[in-house]
Amino acid sequence: MIRVDQEDESIYLDHAATSPLRPEVLEAMLPFLCQSFGNPSSLHRHGRAARAAVEKAREQVALLVGATPESIVFTSGGTESNNLILRSIGKSERILYSAIEHPSVARTARAMGGKPLAVDAEGRVDLEAFHAASPTLVSVMTANNETGVIQPMEAIAAWCDSHGVPFHTDATQSAGLLPLALDSSPVTYASISAHKMGGPKGAGALYVKRGTALTAQMTGGNQEHRRRAGTENVAAIVGFGQACALALRERGFAAARVTALRDALQEALLSAFPHASVNGRGADRLPQILNMRFGQQEGERVVRLLDAAGVSVSTGSACSSGAVEPSAVLLAMGQSHADALGGVRFSVGWNTTEDTLETALKRIQDALERLSPT
Ligand code: PMP
Repeated sequence: MIRVDQEDESIYLDHAATSPLRPEVLEAMLPFLCQSFGNPSSLHRHGRAARAAVEKAREQVALLVGATPESIVFTSGGTESNNLILRSIGKSERILYSAIEHPSVARTARAMGGKPLAVDAEGRVDLEAFHAASPTLVSVMTANNETGVIQPMEAIAAWCDSHGVPFHTDATQSAGLLPLALDSSPVTYASISAHKMGGPKGAGALYVKRGTALTAQMTGGNQEHRRRAGTENVAAIVGFGQACALALRERGFAAARVTALRDALQEALLSAFPHASVNGRGADRLPQILNMRFGQQEGERVVRLLDAAGVSVSTGSACSSGAVEPSAVLLAMGQSHADALGGVRFSVGWNTTEDTLETALKRIQDALERLSPT
C-alpha cells in the first residue's frame, strides 16, 4: 500500500478544513488515474468501465445519506453544490439562509438577494424567524463548520414541509459522522463534500429529491442527467464513493471515538487554561469540532504559536489583505468584535489517536503558557 503519512512530525488537528486522504481511498482511486482512464460517456469498453465505476460510487454516496442513486448529482465539492442549488433558484428576496452559513452559501445567497436568519448565543438558528416569512428556499447547514453546532434540522425541515417550501442543507461537515436519511426526510436538497471525510478534494455531490427541479448552472454535455455538464472526475468520484462506504461502515464507532477524543481535549485544555472558554458549549455539537477562546488572545496569534510548536489548528476567521477579520459566525452569535477575533478551532478525525492528542496537549501547554492570561 502506498504511504500517505505526512512528511514531518507536526500534529494535524484541522480535519474540518480538510482531512488527510485515507489509504483505502487512494488505493481505490489509483486504477482510475492509470489504466482505467476512459471517459464515462464513451461507448467502448474503456468508457463502460469508467461509467460502471461512477455509478458504483453514486450508489455508495447514496447509501451513506439514505438516498436513491438517481438523486445524487456529482459536483466538484461543497462550494459547487451550494452554488448549484442557490443559483438554480435564481434571484429572490425570499431566499432565507442562516447568518452562520459557510461563505459558499452566505455570499451566494446574498448575491441572489436572500436574507439572513439570526442565530442565538450558542449558534443555533432562531426558529421564530420562520413564522414571518414565506420563502422560496430555506438554506440552513446541518452543522456549523467553525463551532460544530448542530442546527434544529427536524424543526426547520418540518416547517418547510408544512409550508411547501424547498429546504436545502449544507451537510458538508456532518455527512461523515452524523446519520442522514434524506429520502425519508423533508430535506429537498443537500450538499456534501468528499475531502471532509478522508476522500479527495474536488469531489462532492448535491442531493436533489426525486421529482424536484434543478436548473443546471454548468451547461454543455448531457452528464449527470443534464444537471451538471462536464466530463466526470472519475478517480475523485471513485475516491468519494470509497470514503462514503468506509464512513457508513464505521459511522457509529467513529463518531463515539472522535467524540471521546474531542471531549478529552476540551477538558484538558479547560483545566490547563482557566481563562479559556468553549464556543457553542451549551449546544449539541458535531463530534469532531472544538472551538475555543483563550482569554483575550487573538486566534490568529494562537494558531501561529501552535503551528511553530508543531500543532496545526485554525481560526474561524478569514485573513484578507493583511487585516484579520473577526469570525462572522461568532459575531452572529452576539460576541464582541474582540471575542470574535479569538476563536481557535481544533478538529480531530480518522487518523487522530489518544497518543497524538497527548503529545499535542503538551505542545499546546508549552506554547501557550508563555502568553499573558489577559
Ligand atoms: N460548506 C461547509 C460547511 C464547509 O465547511 C466547506 C469547506 N470548508 C464547504 C461548504 C466547501 O466545501 P468544498 O471545500 O468541498 O468546496
